[in-house]
Amino acid sequence: MSDYQIPEPEPKEIDERLAVELGQMAQNNVLRGHPSGDERCEGCRYYLDPSQDLSYCWHPKLRILVGANWWCQWWEPIPQDQA
Ligand code: SF4
Repeated sequence: MSDYQIPEPEPKEIDERLAVELGQMAQNNVLRGHPSGDERCEGCRYYLDPSQDLSYCWHPKLRILVGANWWCQWWEPIPQDQA
């Protein structure tokens, strides 16, 4: 029997860098993991697929996956001709 033990997983340098970058991005865009009143990603024109709980936000300041119940300062209603 070997004494080798599988090391516990731990964040790498890239994870620490991405955590800082994404945290700053969230702060700069006032991105929140909850709605703001009636405003939520699901009802925002930049939320790509409102049928999904998680979808791509195509706002140029974000371009990340977001949750249907999240919100940010760039929220805009879906134009009536697209609803
Ligand atoms: S712009 Fe903001 S509110 Fe709209 S989908 Fe993207 S993260 Fe959500």
